[in-house]
Amino acid sequence: MPTIHEELNRRQLLYSLLMPVMNLYVPGLDKGKGLYFLFIKAETKTPGGLLARPVLTSYYKSDHFKSRPYDPFNVYTSPNETILCPDSIQSMYAQMLCGLIMREEVLRVGAVFASGLLKAIRFLQVNWKQFAHDIETGTLNPKVTDPSVRECMSKILKPNPELAAFITKECSEENWECIITRIWPNTKYLDVIVTGAMAQYIPTLEYYSGGLPMACTMYASSECYFGLNLKPMCKPSEVSYTIMPNMAYFEFLPHDDSSGLVDLADLEVGKEYELIVTTYAGLCRYRVGDILRVTGFHNAAPQFRFIRRKNVLLSIDFDKTDESELQQAIENASVLLKEFNTSVVEYTSYADTKQIPGHYVIYWELFVKDAANGPTDEVLSQCCFQMEESLNVVYRQCRVADSIGPLEIRVVKNGTFEELMDYAISRGASINQYKVPRCVSFTPIMELLDSRVVSKHFSPALPHWTPERRR
Ligand code: AMP
Repeated sequence: MPTIHEELNRRQLLYSLLMPVMNLYVPGLDKGKGLYFLFIKAETKTPGGLLARPVLTSYYKSDHFKSRPYDPFNVYTSPNETILCPDSIQSMYAQMLCGLIMREEVLRVGAVFASGLLKAIRFLQVNWKQFAHDIETGTLNPKVTDPSVRECMSKILKPNPELAAFITKECSEENWECIITRIWPNTKYLDVIVTGAMAQYIPTLEYYSGGLPMACTMYASSECYFGLNLKPMCKPSEVSYTIMPNMAYFEFLPHDDSSGLVDLADLEVGKEYELIVTTYAGLCRYRVGDILRVTGFHNAAPQFRFIRRKNVLLSIDFDKTDESELQQAIENASVLLKEFNTSVVEYTSYADTKQIPGHYVIYWELFVKDAANGPTDEVLSQCCFQMEESLNVVYRQCRVADSIGPLEIRVVKNGTFEELMDYAISRGASINQYKVPRCVSFTPIMELLDSRVVSKHFSPALPHWTPERRR
């Protein structure tokens, strides 16, 4: 995405509004610190010689971030050196270690998207023994080799056997429920985006945080920063973002109707639109690919619920299943897993057209709390059926007409989606901005997923469909 230096001022402006808004709802945030997992990626050059890097990397590397004046509302546990370390594992290690050392000062815990915070929790699960060792002895793990990280950690890390014993006690327990509030007892909320495709992570984050509020503070992209949530403590399902009219020139394409572009001032409450931006950096009437629904106005500025990405995810015949339909179908099916103390922690999908008729394949990574009482094949087959029942009428019609075969769930081993993320990061994705692809077709990814499958289940029956009378 093209960008210009001046754009940093606009991003900074949006960031500078987040804490004043939060302060209206959560007092005392100036009395402690934020534990945020923030990362940069190595930079590359385009064939024409321009610098190419993810949007957040350019922000964290800018003076706007690095030389920000002291602000008691924006004190982070992670020193700049740990955020600016290009090796993401060393960076994560140092940021987590700082978070553990300053655990009692932490008032909010976050990452950009929910997936980043869950990656950090997983990292703690794998590495807590090393952290406890470092804290006990006051020495930094030799695997952290970055000189500036080592230097800044040497000022923070002091032997603290009591804290090491606490970490060991909490992390060695089998049960990680409420681990966030156990380790960071003063946390008031999680600062993570869980709207749109990230809604999937809400149950897992609730489990780890004992139901702390999740604040979705802003809506932004590499193309342009859009706006903020003026009620950040509301439920994720009720989040609306207020677009800031000074971020770009905004126009809207009414969704599902053929009328022309609408200006920001002329939007209608309740309608869905595709977002079109003309940016200061040079994008002209660019389709961001997000579908938004107008929920109201703040003064004259419209407010939006993020509905979904525009592109259709799955299609075999006439059917078209989009991201939010797939998400809803998965939510409906996972209700059946509740009595088995099991939840879907990650999913992706694939339209398998190798056989005729083609069929939907849904990859599930499950979290089974009690392995002896996990869901059986029969239950998982019923989940397939429940998903089919939840999909749209055209899908169900194609199923009944046998132009689509039974939906299949492939359960994959724990940690598979983390491997998928690592693979994407190794190919240049940024941890901050990473989003699990909700549909896959790229061969190496398919091979990775298929090599981790532990069981396959198919829908046992046709979903309900009755012909509608046509006019
Ligand atoms: P990127 O350019 O990688 O930063 O991704 C930007 C995209 O992430 C947006 O176009 C949205 O689809 C999604 N996104 C960003 N912020 C939010 C949000 N607050 N809620 C839901 N989706 C979001």
